[in-house]
Amino acid sequence: MTASASTQSAQETAVLSLVDVDRRYKEGDRALDILSGANFTLRPGETVALVAPSGAGKSTLLHIAGLLDRPDAGEIYVDGRACSKLSDEARTRIRRLDIGFVYQFHHLLPEFTAVENIAMPQMIRGLSKREANSRAMQLLKYMKLEERVDHRPSELSGGEQQRVAIARAVANAPRILLADEPTGNLDPETASYVFEVLTGLVRASGLAALFATHNLDLAAQMDRRIILSKGKVVEL
Ligand code: ADP
Repeated sequence: MTASASTQSAQETAVLSLVDVDRRYKEGDRALDILSGANFTLRPGETVALVAPSGAGKSTLLHIAGLLDRPDAGEIYVDGRACSKLSDEARTRIRRLDIGFVYQFHHLLPEFTAVENIAMPQMIRGLSKREANSRAMQLLKYMKLEERVDHRPSELSGGEQQRVAIARAVANAPRILLADEPTGNLDPETASYVFEVLTGLVRASGLAALFATHNLDLAAQMDRRIILSKGKVVEL
């Protein structure tokens, strides 16, 4: 098989792939090359840890993979579909249908309850309030948060807030989960519990997931580990 045929077949079986991605930022009159010729493939059901120190470009990679930012060069394929040049509307649609995000800080809507925060993205996608609430309740039960359904984020602990944010991210049954330091804001004990719940849910639902984390113990539990080196993705 030629190199380009094997790249093509990897893209066809991948749920997400980045091909020769460049991303640079301007700092004064200097250009910062954060990604240069980055290649990455995520297969269905696979969990991958992106381990790199602060400032290495983890968020940049996740934003590009999640269609929140566009590369300066290269291509992003979601389910084999080239996305870098699609309109903002088309990219938003793909993001809503196929991609869930978990951030270091939960970004829950403060004026809504736990169940409403999880139901909301499903209603935006077109489900009835009844259907959305029913799925949100199932997820809250899975997260062992059935006692916290009607609590607002300020009435939840950090670990509980993050479990609600995880439930929200998977509520629309995405194919890909992208997580940026999902337990980085929690104490070690809570972090390992939340991470266990998160990976349990990812594995039970057959999601493909890319987790940026500093935590090597958590990274060790993933199927693969990658780092960023000189703007490229390198397998550990
Ligand atoms: P990480 O998530 O690994 O901490 P980031 O992807 O957030 O890294 O950032 C990588 C580098 O790019 C950092 O040096 C950061 O300061 C810089 N950077 C990130 N976003 C921008 C931006 N919009 N403009 C200029 N520099 C940026």
